[in-house]
Amino acid sequence: MARPKIVVVGGGFAGAECLHRLERRLAPAEADLCLVTPTDYQLYLPLLPHVAAGVLTPQSVAVSLRRRLRRTRILPGGAVGVDPAAKVCVVRKTTGELVNVPYDHLVLTAGSTTRTFDIPGLAEHALGMKTLAQAAYLRDHVISQLDLAAVTSDPVERDARLRFIVVGGGYAGTETAACLQRLTTAAAHRYPRLDPANIEWHLVDVAPKLLPELGENLGAKAMAMLRKRGVEFSLGTSVKAIEPTQVTLTDGRVLPSHTLIWTAGVAASPLVDTLSCDTLRGRLVVAPDLTVPGLADVFAAGDAAAIPDLAKGGDAITPPTAQHAQRQGKTLGDNVAARIRGDVMRPYFHKDLGLVVDLGGKDAVSKPLGVELHGIPAQAVARGYHLMALPTMTARTRVMVNWALNAAAGDDFVRTGFQTGRPARLQDFEYTDAYLSRDRIEERVGNGG
Ligand SMILES: Cc1cc2nc3c(=O)[nH]c(=O)nc-3n(C[C@H](O)[C@H](O)[C@H](O)COP(=O)(O)OP(=O)(O)OC[C@H]3O[C@@H](n4cnc5c(N)ncnc54)[C@H](O)[C@@H]3O)c2cc1C
Repeated sequence: MARPKIVVVGGGFAGAECLHRLERRLAPAEADLCLVTPTDYQLYLPLLPHVAAGVLTPQSVAVSLRRRLRRTRILPGGAVGVDPAAKVCVVRKTTGELVNVPYDHLVLTAGSTTRTFDIPGLAEHALGMKTLAQAAYLRDHVISQLDLAAVTSDPVERDARLRFIVVGGGYAGTETAACLQRLTTAAAHRYPRLDPANIEWHLVDVAPKLLPELGENLGAKAMAMLRKRGVEFSLGTSVKAIEPTQVTLTDGRVLPSHTLIWTAGVAASPLVDTLSCDTLRGRLVVAPDLTVPGLADVFAAGDAAAIPDLAKGGDAITPPTAQHAQRQGKTLGDNVAARIRGDVMRPYFHKDLGLVVDLGGKDAVSKPLGVELHGIPAQAVARGYHLMALPTMTARTRVMVNWALNAAAGDDFVRTGFQTGRPARLQDFEYTDAYLSRDRIEERVGNGG
């Protein structure tokens, strides 16, 4: 009898963990495992700000999928549509070719993209922080602003190049602003013509408080640490318009700047919309056992799915965090294996362990198991947590060695230039326009590809 084919879409926290589990739970004769992924690594996103800041090399946070997954077939490309009735996933290979991939069981773990709003100039000029390429691009961009500011004789241009704006006061935005602010402060000493006092970092958020995930006290502590380092905050404020050399805020202020980093939340992968299933805040609605209601052979988890948070109860759904996605991946693996063997599936249950926010150097805030920490103890918890959560020994060692090297030798603030001249809109990195309409999917699948 042919082996059932399990197709997993997305090799991030949830997808890679699911396949790792499936390789252990099922014998090779029990199932054919296939992963659709645009990259051959699992990106450890929580340390992405360290890559932008040059504290870690890009390779340190790109965990090899082939090292971890020994018998899964890796199909290089992105899923651009699903036809659940025909049980076919349409994949655009990295060559651009479209192929129909039939499945018996489908696992959707395609994560999320940067959430955007209808703000003039956002699509054209905002820089994101969601992929490895974006982190590397951002680092080069920030260093090049210092390079250009150092050679201009126009004070207006110099001030605009030295002003950096980050939108989003959650952990991603706060860590990005904090890590890059350390980069520019440290780099300024290598530019004798620049006055470090002229470098400005602004953090803008429509919410009235920083880091609402960590509670009022730690949010205030993080703000105090960053204020001491010169970061300015505009809370309760949003962005009205973005132009290449200036940003207008909703309170009317116009800030001359060549850099707007947009980290104002995430939206579920556009793949979700191709299924015509129920969604909650854009995420695919799933049952506690991670199956999609009405589609017995489709499972979903991670940022793309709205999963009941049984530990909190009521209408709560699990937040889009790596902590949940990784654990949901384990439940996914167990439940897909149970489905194949006809065993009972289990509901996903995980009590949040809290968050860690690394602000660079000795600055950090964290709330492990409800205990509020700041400064060095919080930093120790943050670094220890990341080392434990990284999925392989090799990745842990790379990160540890890079941290140590950076602490001992510092940064040389080198611009790699690898991505010079490339289009750098959010869409150019996140491929949000790659997906097919329902009609296109049905037409392709109906025609047999
Ligand atoms: C800067 C930053 C910092 C963060 N810090 C933290 C933190 O400190 N703690 C925490 O818990 N969480 C943190 N998060 C959130 C966390 O990273 C996400 O919640 C987590 O990655 C979600 O896991 P996932 O498996 O759903 O998606 P991901 O890990 O993003 O994986 C999705 C995978 O699917 C692939 N993919 C996308 N589209 C397709 C497609 N169409 N076809 C095939 N493959 C596709 C992607 O390339 C990716 O490999 C942070 C996020 C960011 C951006």
